[in-house]
Amino acid sequence: MKQILSIFLLATALVISGCASTTMGGATGSDRSQFLLISSNAVNAGAAQAYKKQLSSASTSGALNTDSGYTDRVKAIAKRLIAQVGIFRPDALSWQWEVNVISSDEINAYCMPGGKIAVYTGIISRLKLTDDELAAVVGHEMSHALREHSREQISQQMASQTLISLGSSLLGLGSIGSDIASSVSKYVLTLPFSRTMETEADIMGMELMARAGYDPTAAPAVWRKMVTLGGNASPEILSTHPSDSTRIANLEQHLPQVMPLYEKARASPKN
Ligand SMILES: [Zn+2]
Repeated sequence: MKQILSIFLLATALVISGCASTTMGGATGSDRSQFLLISSNAVNAGAAQAYKKQLSSASTSGALNTDSGYTDRVKAIAKRLIAQVGIFRPDALSWQWEVNVISSDEINAYCMPGGKIAVYTGIISRLKLTDDELAAVVGHEMSHALREHSREQISQQMASQTLISLGSSLLGLGSIGSDIASSVSKYVLTLPFSRTMETEADIMGMELMARAGYDPTAAPAVWRKMVTLGGNASPEILSTHPSDSTRIANLEQHLPQVMPLYEKARASPKN
């Protein structure tokens, strides 16, 4: 009986926590309803802490923002992309965005919840990224944050932990609450996003870059470069961003939706 009551309470909590979309759809329509159990504030605070730790460790090893040739470029591109986020969620215009470059051979980049961006020099140099391609990478990572994919993943983990511990301490929500920063690190830096999340970040990222005046055809181009690298040199970014043969086709399929936005941005540059 106690267990039935527990299940009922859990179900109620899950329903109350709701299924809304974190973003508006823009021109490409990424507004899938999401299961969110933990607050944005909690996740973003954890992310800020995790990001600080990452920067501090990069700084200690002398790898933080050491080359202005990279940092100026990355910051300028991110600034133009950030100026466009209001189309998906106006609140993100006032996020505490941060942009840093890590000197490392890793082919990697991420954007932690709340807008904490890091780009590794390896992805720029080894893939010989153009500005448009770099905008595609940064726009993709920013879209994971805008869609709050890590918050969604943490919510899913909390729900499954709660189910597992049913009968002992329902609604204690497991151990995750005690160390959100390490959970954020785990999800952003180590564990893969789902295929659905990848598709959303691809399409939203492409719309962001188009609106910022970057050529969206660079998005399929940059993923093609990553796949081509392959073998032992397989880019680190692919471990957190599972890729498959349909990704490039999917990006190309959405080009007609975003090309007019790109043409419009080019015709009246606001940046
Ligand atoms: Zn991704």
